[in-house]
Amino acid sequence: MTEIAPGVLVATSSYAMTTSTVVVGSSGGCLLIDPAVTVADLAALAGELAELGLRPAVAWSTHPHWDHVLWSAELGDAPRYAAPAAVIIAETERDGIVDGVEKSAPGHDLSLIGRLRPLDAPVIPWDGPTAQLIVHDGHAPGHGAVFLPDSGVLVAGDMCSDVEIPLLDTVAADPLGDYRTGMERLAAVPGVRQVVPGHGHVGDAGELHRRLTLDAAYLDAITSGKPTDDPRLEDCAEWMRVTHDEHVRYFER
Ligand SMILES: [Zn+2]
Repeated sequence: MTEIAPGVLVATSSYAMTTSTVVVGSSGGCLLIDPAVTVADLAALAGELAELGLRPAVAWSTHPHWDHVLWSAELGDAPRYAAPAAVIIAETERDGIVDGVEKSAPGHDLSLIGRLRPLDAPVIPWDGPTAQLIVHDGHAPGHGAVFLPDSGVLVAGDMCSDVEIPLLDTVAADPLGDYRTGMERLAAVPGVRQVVPGHGHVGDAGELHRRLTLDAAYLDAITSGKPTDDPRLEDCAEWMRVTHDEHVRYFER
């Protein structure tokens, strides 16, 4: 893990540059956001936390995709929260989520996947640094970013990535409106000094602005039927190219 701000640690998996974020609280407790992604990653995370004398006191899943709702017994039995709309998806689409884990990161204790409690509150209930929730439906229903005003860290979930294009929730009624609303809410957070994307590199405030501008340009291109020169599509993974083509087809209708 890397300490990106006092008391805020980020681990980055070799799988899709997936980030896990730890916020140090009081008396050995910590807030654990999106622990991911392989069995070995979670074991390493649990080991590092133990070495630091930390144990998860509370956990948050930013959204109900398989790589953001993982857990291991070594992480303990802290309450694991997500936004209410995310918890509904984690329950109703559990089979698909478990399939995703088995295909891409096999070996997890399946009984621990997606066991989330709904939290409809402005902040995560715990005695550590204030952790504000910014909930929207861009990328996935009930997508909840976490902002830590004390350190200026915005844990953005699967938004604001330097390595992934905007990934729309194309089964929603208004994928574009939902995504733009999410971007607006994140852009409006005052005092962001660093952004932690669900996949990619930690960036500073200027980098957050650059990514949001890039995301807006990408959305403008796909919705107007124009080609995009988004750098994140250069030499990208096959799945991202496929997803981009799906976006283009979606807006051609
Ligand atoms: Zn996702």
